[in-house]
Amino acid sequence: MNVHAWAATAANQPLAPFQITRREVGAKDVQLEILYSGICHSDIHQARGEWGNSKFPMVPGHEIIGRVLKVGANVTKFKVGDLAGVGCMVDSCRTCSPCGTGEEQFCEAQPAWTYNSTEMDRTTPTYGGYSTHVVVTEHFALKVPASLDLKTAAPLLCAGITTYSPLRQWNCKPGDKVAVMGLGGLGHMAVKLAAAMGAEVTVLSSSKAKEADAKRLGAADFASSTEKGSLKRLKNRFNLIIDCVSADHDFDQYLGTLAPFGALVLVGAPPKPSQVSSFALINNNRRLAGSSIGGIRQTQEMLDFCAEKKLGADIELIAAKDINVAYERMLKNDVRYRFVIDAKTFAT
Ligand code: NAP
Ligand code: ZN
Ligand code: ZN
Repeated sequence: MNVHAWAATAANQPLAPFQITRREVGAKDVQLEILYSGICHSDIHQARGEWGNSKFPMVPGHEIIGRVLKVGANVTKFKVGDLAGVGCMVDSCRTCSPCGTGEEQFCEAQPAWTYNSTEMDRTTPTYGGYSTHVVVTEHFALKVPASLDLKTAAPLLCAGITTYSPLRQWNCKPGDKVAVMGLGGLGHMAVKLAAAMGAEVTVLSSSKAKEADAKRLGAADFASSTEKGSLKRLKNRFNLIIDCVSADHDFDQYLGTLAPFGALVLVGAPPKPSQVSSFALINNNRRLAGSSIGGIRQTQEMLDFCAEKKLGADIELIAAKDINVAYERMLKNDVRYRFVIDAKTFAT
């Protein structure tokens, strides 16, 4: 079917209306009418060619909430009318070891990412959620608990799972001291999730103006990362730091705030490499790690956790025509805390 979308045609071009074709619904496919689509900073990195792997035309968007319009003959997980979510992946090989353990993001054949990628045939381009409809194999569609507010649930499909996954991997538990760097889309979800898991959360932010929000979102403490010496009082304090900063930054001052055996986990993906001093890691046996989204099973677990804890993103709902302005505002750090596009407006 022909579908209305918004696309970038080149790294230096603003996004504009664009037509794409979605495949016919196969036996294991579901077709969704997209209701809401979140804007992740990864959309900007890729639409602007910052990671060096951009394919154009590009329809970004991997925080998708929709309603099932059609199901294939062999679909068992969904029926017409159900709510469904799609995150950063739309397929994987399903046979390799990571796929077998539910960590499809590490598929040895590389997953079919939701956009700026190809289907597993490695020729058909994938187009993301800035569109009115999507067709996806049912395994990669998530069940959306009915109690979630749909607008605020869209960002859970990337910002939610990307921060939930390292909190679980590093065993975040009541009493842990967890810091979150970068209070944006990912960062504000990290604060909500870590607080809901019982951690004592500190926000380390370059924006002093976000202190009140940090506390409202669940943080017990706040420190400005740009004021000289402001992290001194936090030396050797944290068990875990989730680094959600999208721009280049220095790790050493943050590593100094880790307690013995503490870990700083990168989820933010700035374009340029950083330097780390050896002693920042050697002292306290500190660990510097990374984390990539999360598998489908864990994404479902995260959605169910958010339903139980009544969590969603703090969002600003926009129309498709505002996407380019939203990108500029995100780059100016002017988003509280996620833009979500009303998918009806892709058609107008
Ligand atoms: P976002 O909403 O734009 O937030 C980024 C935050 O980084 C800002 O709110 C700001 O927080 C901080 N920041 C921005 N510029 C800064 C600067 N020059 N110096 C210091 N801090 C700065 O972005 P997002 O959507 O949350 O994404 C964050 C990053 O995660 C992006 O790089 C994205 O590509 C990446 N990502 C990774 C994965 C993964 O699987 N690992 C998944 C999704 C996204 P403060 O104002 O508090 O400093
Ligand atoms: Zn994302
Ligand atoms: Zn695989």
